[in-house]
Amino acid sequence: MIIIDKPYIKEIDNKCRMSANIIIDEKSVEIWFEVDKAYGKYLTYERSDAYVIGILSYAMRNGHDIKCEQPMSADLFYQIDTYLIDAVYKSSKSLHRTKIITDVCNEKLETANAVGTGISCGIDSFHAVSSHTRLKAEDFNITHLAFNNVGSHGEGERAVNLFNARRSLAKKFAEEYKYEFVESNSNIHDVIYQNHFLTHAYTSSFAIYCLRKLYSTYYYASSKTFAEFDLHNNEFRSTSNYELLLFSIFSISGLKIYSEGANSTRLEKTIAVSKYKPSYNYLNVCTQTAENCNKCEKCIRTLVTLDAINALDNYKSVFDIDYYRKHRQWYFRNMLRYKRIKKDYNEVYPMLKKDIHILTYFMAMLDMFKYSMIKHTPQGIKNIVKNLIGRK
Ligand SMILES: [Zn+2]
Repeated sequence: MIIIDKPYIKEIDNKCRMSANIIIDEKSVEIWFEVDKAYGKYLTYERSDAYVIGILSYAMRNGHDIKCEQPMSADLFYQIDTYLIDAVYKSSKSLHRTKIITDVCNEKLETANAVGTGISCGIDSFHAVSSHTRLKAEDFNITHLAFNNVGSHGEGERAVNLFNARRSLAKKFAEEYKYEFVESNSNIHDVIYQNHFLTHAYTSSFAIYCLRKLYSTYYYASSKTFAEFDLHNNEFRSTSNYELLLFSIFSISGLKIYSEGANSTRLEKTIAVSKYKPSYNYLNVCTQTAENCNKCEKCIRTLVTLDAINALDNYKSVFDIDYYRKHRQWYFRNMLRYKRIKKDYNEVYPMLKKDIHILTYFMAMLDMFKYSMIKHTPQGIKNIVKNLIGRK
């Protein structure tokens, strides 16, 4: 059993923190979520909603029911209890059918009607921003950019440095283009251990619901299309596969969450972003360094896509385009290798095929053979080889 105590608010220096004690099998941990003082009034301590969403996947994976000391919103409870838990449970082999024991509340919460999205400065993120700027239907234009630390930035010194660099870039973008910047921090990923890849839509929705009194609309930048919806064996797969279900459940009276960009392919999204001038100085897709490294898989994927749509020159200030052009065949060689394991390249490859040299295909085949050998070589043999060549 997991018991969620009543959330409470406290101020720490210039921050405002919402905390709740969570008792898991009689052991108590505090889960907090913190924002700048200016956003403190939007922290939604009146409901258990955020905490239920934040720990639901953990509860289902670890055989727990959930008891709330503070009521849940009636519609959210109904949707989670009636549809979500059942559907997720029945499409898995190992999850627990969690029961939620709670009072419910029908009373409406006042909101500031903010329209938000997360800002990472990547393709998906800029697609959300560029698609919701200067719309005729003004209520759908983004007003707030959120930078949430709920587990997506990793651990260790390198991750902290990357996190700080990404935050600075996102904040600078928000300031230059006159968006409100909502920065948040939380320890949820430290005290409730969850694989971020498998649970990110839950933890991101935790952050949205902590500020339930701020948002009326939130665009969650999706990395998969609606056509890829798949709930089967969901306990082993990214929540991206069933966001369509999750966000329909997490959308309640007064708060609508959209799976933004899920109607477009990566190529279509990149084309849209390449027409959005503010992205030219801010696009940041790298998983390795604060500035785009030009060489990691995400940098390679973005560069070859920009090449395919003839938009490389727009991004001279964020990528080393001269280097790319000088080493174009090296990028194609990697594209051929990644294409075998990631369908993201399937749209781009036919557009660049005519420029790929025969030798590049040959080198890519050698790469694939090499990686296959490494992958299938038992660790014991790898160790013997390392010892023979004096490497540790
Ligand atoms: Zn990179």
